Amino acid sequence: MTTFNTALLATLVALAGAAWWLWRRWKADAAAHKREFDELKQRHADTLHAHTARMEAMLDSMIEGLIVLDARGRITLVNRAAERIFGFSRMMAGGTLLEAIRHHEVAALAARVNAEGSVVQHELRLESPAARVLQISAVALHDANDAPAGAVLVAHDVTQLRELEGVRQDFVANVSYELRTPLSLIKSAAETLIDGGKDDPAALTRFLEIIDKHANRLTLLIDDLLLLARLDSGRIELRFEAVPLRAAVQDTVDDYQLKAAARGVVLENAVPPGLAARADAERLRQVLSNLVDNAIKYGRENGRVTVSGRALDAGRVELCVRDDGPGIPPEAKVRVFERFFRVDKARSREQGGTGLGLAIVKNVVQAHGGEVRVESAPGEGTVFFLTLPAAPID
Ligand code: ADP
Repeated sequence: MTTFNTALLATLVALAGAAWWLWRRWKADAAAHKREFDELKQRHADTLHAHTARMEAMLDSMIEGLIVLDARGRITLVNRAAERIFGFSRMMAGGTLLEAIRHHEVAALAARVNAEGSVVQHELRLESPAARVLQISAVALHDANDAPAGAVLVAHDVTQLRELEGVRQDFVANVSYELRTPLSLIKSAAETLIDGGKDDPAALTRFLEIIDKHANRLTLLIDDLLLLARLDSGRIELRFEAVPLRAAVQDTVDDYQLKAAARGVVLENAVPPGLAARADAERLRQVLSNLVDNAIKYGRENGRVTVSGRALDAGRVELCVRDDGPGIPPEAKVRVFERFFRVDKARSREQGGTGLGLAIVKNVVQAHGGEVRVESAPGEGTVFFLTLPAAPID
């Protein structure tokens, strides 16, 4: 009996020991598994965080504005460009598009894409936060079961493109008008001659002079247009050399002395010796001719036109063409370098102007790496300033 009890006790003790060992082992395993699981969870969280950060960085670097909506039309994602374009903050995420943008057309677009389920394109004009033209593409999203899951809106800013299209259309309209006017004058003069005018010697001379004058105007206009086209496309080759400025200005002054005298204008060269620009001599002569010609044409009768110059800092030189004429009104001052802009259209045409002279001046000076600007006030004359890279003089 005693032996039996002792054996039973030993067995029980052994079992209890084994159970204790198993429990310890299970506990250690469970702790190890938990550690492993936590590490895995952390790694997943880190990877997810890195992915999200990378995706946000990518979306924020997009030029296009991006808005993602959920199935109920609530904003779930907005990139930086969309914030800028529509002027709302990320804080508005969670609200509806209409609450965030307050623009019915955009909200209607989102509703349309949900109904149609395909890509919808729409051009939109925004007045605030800034005047913009946007091309919006919207596409519906679907989940794995093909149920509607919202929409993605991509806004592409086409403001500059539309502006350029407007400039191009205006330019074509202006060119057509400028060509048509002298052409119709040439045509009617020729018709008058054919209809019998040629038999009258005085009329013959007069009408031939009209034809000659307007044919010359057409030639000037076409030359200016071709030059501008070459400047625009960068197809113009500039032959840079050190151009002594006093001598270059003197050539132009000599060319225009007769024209100045005909209006009683004193034309003077006040450029000091020792100044030189790194320039294409022929193109610089064209720039100076345009500015001096304008100063004589639009300046005061019996007035004074002075061309002066000085060295600036940082290896640049400046030339000024000054007149004491009626000046340019402030609202026109910002536009005088535009193609075909004239303060007084009739006056410019009567003087044989193409309306392209200052646009050519600006483009040629910029092709030299220089700048041009104008200072003027009504009744106080006009000064055109141009800066060019300086050159060492021999
Ligand atoms: P245009 O062929 O008409 O002279 P430009 O491009 O040379 O064309 O000049 C544009 C317009 O700028 C002129 O029509 C004129 O109204 C104005 N303008 C240019 N130079 C002067 C000036 N020195 N004084 C006043 N107005 C000027």
